[in-house]
Amino acid sequence: MVKRPPVPSDLRRRVLVEAGHRCAIPTCRHIEVDVHHIVPWAQCQAHKYDNLIAICPNCHRRADRGEIDRKSLRLYKLNLRFIHDKYSQFEMDMMFELHALQSEQVIMWPPYLNLLIKRLIESQFVDIERPRAKVSLGGMQASPDHLKITPRGRQFIDSLGLKEL
Ligand SMILES: [Zn+2]
Repeated sequence: MVKRPPVPSDLRRRVLVEAGHRCAIPTCRHIEVDVHHIVPWAQCQAHKYDNLIAICPNCHRRADRGEIDRKSLRLYKLNLRFIHDKYSQFEMDMMFELHALQSEQVIMWPPYLNLLIKRLIESQFVDIERPRAKVSLGGMQASPDHLKITPRGRQFIDSLGLKEL
């Protein structure tokens, strides 16, 4: 049996900061935290960011006993991403909608609302196609643009590991 090395301090810090140095379970939020392996160390023999979550000793024991299962822990970890990532809940919902579409499907998008998806545009997660036939009202484009997910956006949603749930 390989002796378990400590979690590298940079990685440990990243996991703790992700959870704001509190238990990652929102109804707990205890301030005393351990770094827990979602897939147990004995099985994975690796310290990987995606597999680590900051939880308190009490929740840790409950996780070890299986009262809090791995899927739940992954969901708690995912919630932390939504809280701390730079994308709004609306933008995340939009990404999930776009991700679920067939490759040629688009979402009609009013161009005057681009501010709502500003960060998706900046991250190049979405492509905005402007149909040639435009309708303008008082100088403002009234006809919708076509919104599509980019390969980069698709990769981002895939990286959340929702399929593994
Ligand atoms: Zn806890």
